[in-house]
Amino acid sequence: MSQKKYSVVIVGFGGMGHYHSTLIKKNDVLEVTGVYDVKQERLDYGIELGYQAYPNLAEVLADKKVDVVLIATPNDVHSEIAIAALEAGKHVICEKPVTLSSQEFIEIDAVAKKVNKVFMTHQNRRWDEDFLIVKEMYDQQSIGDIFQIESRVHGANGIPGDWRHEAAHGGGMLLDWGVHLLDQMLYMVDSKIISVRAELSFILGDEVDDGFISTLTFENGVTAIVEVGTTNYISLPRWYVKGTEGTALIEDWSMKGKMVKRNWDAEKVEPKPIQAGVGLTKTMAPPSEEATNTLDLPQPQQNSQSFYDNFASVIEEKAEPIVKNTEVLRNLRLIEAVFEAARTNQIITKFE
Ligand code: NAD
Repeated sequence: MSQKKYSVVIVGFGGMGHYHSTLIKKNDVLEVTGVYDVKQERLDYGIELGYQAYPNLAEVLADKKVDVVLIATPNDVHSEIAIAALEAGKHVICEKPVTLSSQEFIEIDAVAKKVNKVFMTHQNRRWDEDFLIVKEMYDQQSIGDIFQIESRVHGANGIPGDWRHEAAHGGGMLLDWGVHLLDQMLYMVDSKIISVRAELSFILGDEVDDGFISTLTFENGVTAIVEVGTTNYISLPRWYVKGTEGTALIEDWSMKGKMVKRNWDAEKVEPKPIQAGVGLTKTMAPPSEEATNTLDLPQPQQNSQSFYDNFASVIEEKAEPIVKNTEVLRNLRLIEAVFEAARTNQIITKFE
């Protein structure tokens, strides 16, 4: 018999629900014991995998053996399931975007506090290696003081699936991928945001955005460009980062990339003019080989615990959550500011 401590039921056993079940299999403290989904075929699949299939949410919540409800449904029903689960005395893990508005999240947080149960949002991309490398460069000033960070994900497959095309379900790419990239930026740059500019794209003709470009200016002088595209047949690099001593680039999730830094030991040589198009330029001539050093990307500092271990430690009051509810709320407010900036074509300066 399993020695695992906490029994988890996954509500919404689709793509991500199933992915959680495979990850939790490798975890020592959590154990998926059951699933609930509105689709019978997903319940049948759960049974095939050896899980208990619940016929409705009420039976999950009434089951005293269940410690944790993990919500992996479409976005619009996260909040009602979360509140019901908390009120039934369950701890809750909820997929991102946790809610469609900051107000809904405030309500969940209030219930969690009232019933004294743990509620954590699965902002799992805080554990992504590419992000942790950039965070390491930022924290350690590996390329000097970082003053511009460009974070992009580009695909050419359009908006995936069914419900992600519909506003009623909380579809669109800002809520889907934007929530990750903005969360990473807020987690890394410890400074107030003083302005938000944004444009959403509707190239595919859906009622929800198929991508966006946003620019955030932080009080400490950092500018962040955050972009998601789903009609990009050529992808720009995942990260392009500029510091006072160098520039870094990470191509993609294979971690291909480099840092190019100014070489202070080299004698300063005036660049020679090069032919550029029909003109000549010294400004855009490459630096001499001696003028720069090309370095490997740094080894990232890992988070102290995995998401699931951290969740269990928070239940046991042995650790602070790595994904804090105050941070999740700030991110939702930022998403609202991005929507507002795009809708009004205005720069939002009163975000916080
Ligand atoms: P999906 O469509 O594959 O799965 C959703 C499942 O929920 C479906 O099986 C559907 O039948 C079921 N469902 C719908 N309404 C329900 C309800 N009221 N009660 C119970 N089940 C219900 O979608 P997905 O891609 O798995 O996305 C699910 C959630 O996970 C979304 O919030 C999404 O944003 C999130 N997600 C997170 C990541 C990540 O890396 N953190 C990745 C993908 C998806």
